[in-house]
Amino acid sequence: MDLFEYQGKQFFANYDIPVSAGSAETTVDGAVTAADKVGYPVVVKAQVQVGGRGKAGGIKLANNADECREHASNILGMDIKGHTVEVVWIERASDISEEYYASFTLDRSAKKHLGMLSAEGGVEIEVVAVENPDAIAKIWIDPVDGLTEQVARDWVAAAKLNPLATEGAVDILVKLYNAYVNGDADLAEINPLILTPTNKVHALDAKVSLDNNAGFRHEWDEYEATQERDDREQQAFEADLQYVGLEGSVGIIANGAGLAMSTLDVVNQAGGSPANFLDVGGGADAKKFIKALTIIDNDPRVRSIFINIFGGITRGEEVANGIVAALGEIDLKSPIVIRLDGTNADEGRAILEPHLNEKLQMAPTMLEAARVAVSLASN
Ligand code: GDP
Ligand code: MN
Repeated sequence: MDLFEYQGKQFFANYDIPVSAGSAETTVDGAVTAADKVGYPVVVKAQVQVGGRGKAGGIKLANNADECREHASNILGMDIKGHTVEVVWIERASDISEEYYASFTLDRSAKKHLGMLSAEGGVEIEVVAVENPDAIAKIWIDPVDGLTEQVARDWVAAAKLNPLATEGAVDILVKLYNAYVNGDADLAEINPLILTPTNKVHALDAKVSLDNNAGFRHEWDEYEATQERDDREQQAFEADLQYVGLEGSVGIIANGAGLAMSTLDVVNQAGGSPANFLDVGGGADAKKFIKALTIIDNDPRVRSIFINIFGGITRGEEVANGIVAALGEIDLKSPIVIRLDGTNADEGRAILEPHLNEKLQMAPTMLEAARVAVSLASN
């Protein structure tokens, strides 16, 4: 779950990381009142979960109430890369001497946490990684060891931050690591981390992604309630489906998250691109398939649907019956390709067999099914 900047800052503040005080507002009047309280100059910041807000005109300095009113009314309702701004964050403007970059994320292949620190912050780290990779100091942290102050100090030195920033940066990095681990984040990024003219180090932006699986340990309801979802994702959320909207043309239904991810890969391998991730989970009742198929088929991007089922505890014939019942109740615009394997696959295929036609095909393997689905999507 990705947080908005203002929520990320709240999250950071819980772990004692210095951020500017401010207020999240949904109206122009609210923004001006908040700015009067915070004290000018303020920054008016569009709250959307997409980078490069500054360049898109979503971040403006205001020296007085008139300027604040003008910027807030321009920014609220603004479209930034397909995201409509519904909230602005008003904070006291900071003076900036230097901008750095700091983040922690999980390096799954190394089975360690990866910390990245750079004296070249304020720009997208992907750009630094391409144009000046040596400017990013990386460390891999064994979760058993954690991040000690000494290691943080060496790391700051390796990143060649201004010596005036050393103490503040070490302090923040240790706290950020603590927030990332104990707060159950998958990503905690500060860009820019700034050094001020009075030699304070301070987080000016916050990008935090939380591990949904750890939600039971935390009070995340507020974050959950404000998640940005497109129409498809909202419908899937209400239907209690594990769904992620993507931009391709092959709709995907699989049972199990691992299989759903492999299905995305195999569609790509077959030269196509997936329109979504959808894990229907265990069980196979027709209702679930109706919901899943309806959401996918209503997506204007979708040109074909690939149902990839590997029977386990849920047996093949149960799944086949569920699919047949669902198809009896809804009329789909896109053709379907099914791959059914695993427990009682033969029984399942026998159930599907009499229903096959040009809009409902079956393929023996995952790759073959992907090829058919991709070719149907490009017709
Ligand atoms: P992003 O563009 O979405 O990453 O938004 P950021 O919050 O990182 O802001 C982008 C840029 O706006 C920063 O790199 C700063 O240069 C500038 N900026 C943001 N807040 C302030 C502030 O309080 N004072 C000043 N002077 N510049 C700011
Ligand atoms: Mn930023």
